Amino acid sequence: MKILIVLCAFLALGSAKRLFHNDQVLRVHPTEGQRDLLEKLPETFPAIDFWTEPRGTGPVDIHVPRAFVGPVKVFLNRHRINNEIFIENVQNNIDQERSPRPEQMDLASFDYNVYHTLDEIQQWIDDITASSSIATKEPVGTTYEGRDISAIKLSTGGVKPSFVINCGIHAREWVTPASCMYTVKYLIEGTENGNEQILDSVDIYVIPSSNPDGYVYTWTNDRMWRKTRSQNGLVCIGVDPNRNWDANWSGPGASGSSCSDTYYGPSVMSEIEVSSQAEFVANIPNVQAYIDVHAYSQYWMFPYGYTYAYPADYSTLNVIAGESAAAIKSVHGMTYQYGPISEVIYQASGSTADYFYDKQGIKCSFAAELRDTGRYGFLLPERLIQPTAEETYAGLMTIAASVANGQCV
Ligand code: ZN
Repeated sequence: MKILIVLCAFLALGSAKRLFHNDQVLRVHPTEGQRDLLEKLPETFPAIDFWTEPRGTGPVDIHVPRAFVGPVKVFLNRHRINNEIFIENVQNNIDQERSPRPEQMDLASFDYNVYHTLDEIQQWIDDITASSSIATKEPVGTTYEGRDISAIKLSTGGVKPSFVINCGIHAREWVTPASCMYTVKYLIEGTENGNEQILDSVDIYVIPSSNPDGYVYTWTNDRMWRKTRSQNGLVCIGVDPNRNWDANWSGPGASGSSCSDTYYGPSVMSEIEVSSQAEFVANIPNVQAYIDVHAYSQYWMFPYGYTYAYPADYSTLNVIAGESAAAIKSVHGMTYQYGPISEVIYQASGSTADYFYDKQGIKCSFAAELRDTGRYGFLLPERLIQPTAEETYAGLMTIAASVANGQCV
């Protein structure tokens, strides 16, 4: 507890940029019986950070700060838990993730193959909606720290069903805003040059950065920040915006500890980023599909997360998810697993996909995890943005086509 308070106090100081020199990511291959032991690891080592959760079925990636690398390895080996070093020095990967460049505030020279600051993303939203007759900027809400959250509506007019694409809800998953900006570009260019017809039948809304406070914090202070930045008078700052929704809120697969990366928050829908998006989507007429885009692990999932029970629309959703995975594979050969969230990864309560499915009746509700499968994890190099975006576009357009052909009514 003491270390935890010291760590939180250090991070709360705010101005210092967190460095990750000689921090490691260990890939751990637990047996079923060892998963409980791993889940309790933060009690002994509160500074560790699960990049993939121990409750799942696959390997567990654990980011271990330098000071704890030795002791954590001793612990794992003492309990005979199979482990390997997956990322030798996290700071090296951060340094190699992006290359230095001048600020990009101009649509004509906008480079989609680099990671962008929030200021650049917001300028891009203004510029691209001003320059295209089918794109409009729509306000979603204002963050805890007062930043704008915006959506881009892509529509050729008329009355059509809608598909909402949400990106960047987890701050450190940088490839998701990058892929969603590419999606907007592809839709605009494809529609304008006649190669993409989907907007004839569906309106598409894209929220490129739905957790701007957290995203800014990953650029200024802590590359590994996941949550919002709300202050709740507790030990640590921030709430997991994908555990805060009204879908079995505070149930299995979410934490009541403010310092946990999966903290469900002081109350249901407490986060302004969550409640404003719920209201925004509720006000769009006839939304038939929604997807929350995350990274990493390469999954294409649907409800439920909070229970192992299947949703009423299981067979439809499973078919569409399978078609999405096939479409993705056809682009660059990448394999995405698909199925219900609770089955593919782990039980998780209070998540977007379950909320929109249960509470807003959006039949085609999905949650995706983009590249990769852990080689770079959250620190996917910029050269992989474009292939990730290309295959993601294929997956997203499969869902859009399902709306167009009436499968999501
Ligand atoms: Zn995520």
